[in-house]
Amino acid sequence: MKPVYQIEINGETVGYINSKDDFENIIYETFNNNEEENIAFADFNFEIKNKIKLIDRKFETEESKVLSIIKENADITYFEYAIFANGEEQQKFRSKYEANEILENLNKEFKDQVDLEIKKVYMKDLEATDNNVQLAEISNNIQIQIDKKIAEEKKKEKSTINGVYIAVVPVQGHITSRYGARESVRDHVHKGLDIGAKLGTKIKAAADGVVSYSGTKGGYGNLLIINHGNGIETYYGHCSKLYKNVGDVVTAGDIIALVGTTGNSTGPHLHFEIRKNGEYVNPTKYLY
Ligand SMILES: [Zn+2]
Repeated sequence: MKPVYQIEINGETVGYINSKDDFENIIYETFNNNEEENIAFADFNFEIKNKIKLIDRKFETEESKVLSIIKENADITYFEYAIFANGEEQQKFRSKYEANEILENLNKEFKDQVDLEIKKVYMKDLEATDNNVQLAEISNNIQIQIDKKIAEEKKKEKSTINGVYIAVVPVQGHITSRYGARESVRDHVHKGLDIGAKLGTKIKAAADGVVSYSGTKGGYGNLLIINHGNGIETYYGHCSKLYKNVGDVVTAGDIIALVGTTGNSTGPHLHFEIRKNGEYVNPTKYLY
């Protein structure tokens, strides 16, 4: 006969082990920062008890069976290593080594163009599949990201007037009259941009600012003016409805009014102006 430990989980016998201390070590190593199995930690919502028993010498203990039962019942939190480019997750890897290898290659390819880092990420189910390391795919994604960022910066630069970023096209529609156009119905050159749209179409603030006028004004009909600071203002004319009052703070993209045909207008459209220190500028340049 030999002494063994009988292991019980929630009162149910699950198997026998040889050494209590060795088994405790195995449990610790399995469930604490286990790089091999990507286990970060585990919660055991059950009680493990052991009883010493004398058993036939030929009896083989069942450490691995007991361990796998504990594993099945434990609430495990896993970890993986993810590569981030400019703060955006690209791909997860099971091992730090794999992630490092890819990161080194990406660093060579993109030198100072992108911020690359490896971060440990935690999850309830492992996500990275083995052998899914695809450098070409990741570098392609990063290149797209870089190109997008450059294009955004260019657009922003082009759409900025006196430090005010004209971020939003106020109404999506077809242009019915451009800035500078001469039309028979007018006795002067057109000072804004006319965007044709259905009656009641929502009009968005083109940039952040404060409403400085909200009411009717001659040929403009219902007019809303936003002051963006630095001498920049935007005008929204012929509206059917005005949603903002003088003093209201607006953010680019906020709904400020509805398309109408009030004032000197032959059909529903938005008359949009940008003014710099009171002078008219061509809105097309900044909007599109
Ligand atoms: Zn107009």
